[in-house]
Amino acid sequence: MLRNARNRRIQREAFTIEMMIRLYCRKKHRPQGGLCSDCQELADYAQRRLEKCPFQTEKPTCANCRVHCYRAEMRARIREVMRYSGPRMLLYHPLLAVLHQIDGRRPTPALREKNPKRDPDRPD
Ligand SMILES: [Zn+2]
Repeated sequence: MLRNARNRRIQREAFTIEMMIRLYCRKKHRPQGGLCSDCQELADYAQRRLEKCPFQTEKPTCANCRVHCYRAEMRARIREVMRYSGPRMLLYHPLLAVLHQIDGRRPTPALREKNPKRDPDRPD
């Protein structure tokens, strides 16, 4: 699952999101081992988005990010997972939950572009 992750920040984010999807799936869908096919699809999608995240080591938590990189349907599905698993992470994966809280204080960095001052589309 972490084979393409480029750095520890993204690796931990990838691990956290995987744990949250697993927790959600296990309680809601009761799959026969592993994830159900829907949640597997969501997990694969989330990992691909992380690999493509432009922030990498400076990544904020996705909830705070101003780049909304998920397509609408996947965004709705991941929000559902977060709503369920977010509060439960403290119980099941307290260390990850605490680290995620700390990551959540990180501001979204400005995208580094070649000529940032000349980019009229920068969402500031
Ligand atoms: Zn599922």
